[in-house]
Amino acid sequence: MTDPCLKVLFAEDEKIQAVWLQSLLENYGYSVEWVTNGLQALDRLAKDRFSIVMTDLMMPEMNGIELCQAIRKLQYSHYIYIIIVTGKEGKEELISGIYAGADDFINKPVDEKELFARLKTARRILEMEQTLVDQYKEISLLSVTDPLTKTYNRRFFTEQLQSEMARCVRYSHDLTLILCDIDHFKAVNDTYGHQMGDLVLQEFADCLNRGIRQEVDYVARYGGEEFIVILPETGCEDALTCSERLRQEVSKLSFLSESGPFGITASFGTVTVKGRAGRDYPDVDILLKATDDNLYQAKKQGRNCCVCSKI
Ligand code: GH3
Ligand code: MG
Ligand code: MG
Ligand code: MG
Repeated sequence: MTDPCLKVLFAEDEKIQAVWLQSLLENYGYSVEWVTNGLQALDRLAKDRFSIVMTDLMMPEMNGIELCQAIRKLQYSHYIYIIIVTGKEGKEELISGIYAGADDFINKPVDEKELFARLKTARRILEMEQTLVDQYKEISLLSVTDPLTKTYNRRFFTEQLQSEMARCVRYSHDLTLILCDIDHFKAVNDTYGHQMGDLVLQEFADCLNRGIRQEVDYVARYGGEEFIVILPETGCEDALTCSERLRQEVSKLSFLSESGPFGITASFGTVTVKGRAGRDYPDVDILLKATDDNLYQAKKQGRNCCVCSKI
């Protein structure tokens, strides 16, 4: 894929100018598309990602100033660096272009050295923006991730449950929550050490993640060795099947300690909210309480089992 900083859209109604500049930029590794007015430029920007727009000022249909205004108004998902390529127009037009959102300008006839110096500035700004975007994405992900198990954290779970519940209410859909807790986990720490305990938590979380529908369901760390799974649009039967499958998969995990292999089990409390057109849905707190109650029952019934119900 072309480096996004190297994709240039050039709006220019004079063919000789355009062809000359296009081939010059292409010789320097830029990928260039040429359009003959602002409207065509907007059309291309709507369909493809260009990081740099170079634009003439005087063009038919939509001129360079209007193009700058439109680009800034549309607020693309990435920054578009705009360079005005100005001819005989006066200083006033150029100033209007900069007010309209252009970042820089270059005079015609374009001087090759000056052009590449200005493009270097463009790339520096665009790379800085990309670094900020990447850092923002990383921080956003970290803010919703549990550092040890890399599952979602409780904060994400709370927000996600609210929005899944709202969706459920809007479309009268079912929704299932599974709360699961490793059995006698304290004994794992006490017997094999805290480091092994951490490894068990990581493997347990991975096992849950493997057992759910990717991109649809969510696993989050709810507390120490308690995890919660949101299964949107999932009724009682599927909820039971899923809980039971997860329980079995967890019981197949094997860990190697200095004193030999060992396994774990977990208990599952599952609650399905039934879709109900025209009827009130239970509060999120009531749903969570019911899930916790079912987990408590599973523990009471001897652990390594699932207790499911609906509300
Ligand atoms: P039960 O079957 O009733 O759930 O018993 P349990 O031993 O699993 O439950 P208990 O609540 O007594 O113990 C939970 C343990 O989980 C205690 C705590 O030290 C441990 N724990 C919580 N978070 C972590 C962690 O991040 N790493 C490790 N290694 N242990 C943790
Ligand atoms: Mg022109
Ligand atoms: Mg436990
Ligand atoms: Mg617990």
